[in-house]
Amino acid sequence: MKCRCGRSAVFHSKVYRITLCDRCYPKFYVNLVKRSIKRYRILKSSERVLVCVSGGKDSSAMAYALKELGYNIELFHIDLGIGSYSKESLKAVEELAQTLNLDLNVVKLKDYGFTIDDVERKKVCSACGIVKRYLMNRFAREKGFDVVATAHTCEDIILFFIKNMLSGNVEYIAKLKPRIEGYDKLVAKAKPLFERTEKENATLVLTLNLPFTPLECPHAPKDVWKEIIYDVEAKKKGFKLNFVKAIAKLAENVSTEEWEVKHCKICGEVSNSEVCSFCKLVRRYARNVS
Ligand SMILES: [Zn+2]
Ligand SMILES: [Zn+2]
Repeated sequence: MKCRCGRSAVFHSKVYRITLCDRCYPKFYVNLVKRSIKRYRILKSSERVLVCVSGGKDSSAMAYALKELGYNIELFHIDLGIGSYSKESLKAVEELAQTLNLDLNVVKLKDYGFTIDDVERKKVCSACGIVKRYLMNRFAREKGFDVVATAHTCEDIILFFIKNMLSGNVEYIAKLKPRIEGYDKLVAKAKPLFERTEKENATLVLTLNLPFTPLECPHAPKDVWKEIIYDVEAKKKGFKLNFVKAIAKLAENVSTEEWEVKHCKICGEVSNSEVCSFCKLVRRYARNVS
């Protein structure tokens, strides 16, 4: 297959009815991200954006696109202390920062007295989520960033939607808005890649040879719902994009205004109970906190 410019193709999409080469694809990709940001008012040009990078393909693609679009960005990475996975991830984000000529901020969970490897197996994924949400919000606010950008893909959004629906957490849909405004001590959250697929992100980093690690977190469970989402897409092209657009529409109509704001009595951050989930983890797992 050939690109419209005549060169050999690296990307073909039935959803967008397009075939592109390695030179035309990055422009197409960045333009798609630009369109999402504009349509859903995900970022403002005046904002300082903290871009969360894990070292994986999705966040590397996001950093490239936001830099190309001229946003005022810095990278942010959390070293979770997950053996060689975290070492490789840190190496990848350092190379990414160098390649894109961006400032990189690294926070080490170890500095709080524990790592994700200290957490018992069954609680690892929930602990990891708590740690990421807490540290990125606190860092962003303390360093004067207006918004935190995370590289959730359309597959992530659909997975979260299905799982929360099935467990009856209907109000959680509000968390799936492409942009959640900040309030109290919470900084605004943005998902510029919520309409992008993992394949689109992978194609970008591979064609541009952007640094990323192909390693998956060793604790990540194999997700059967993800396979189901891919199966449906294979039979019904455009399912993922249409579904994620519908979720965004639905999320806009879920009000979050009446959520009561409480603060953790230990750290002072926003919390749903007396002590926040992060401080509970520190209490439970930290050894010799200095
Ligand atoms: Zn081309
Ligand atoms: Zn706390």
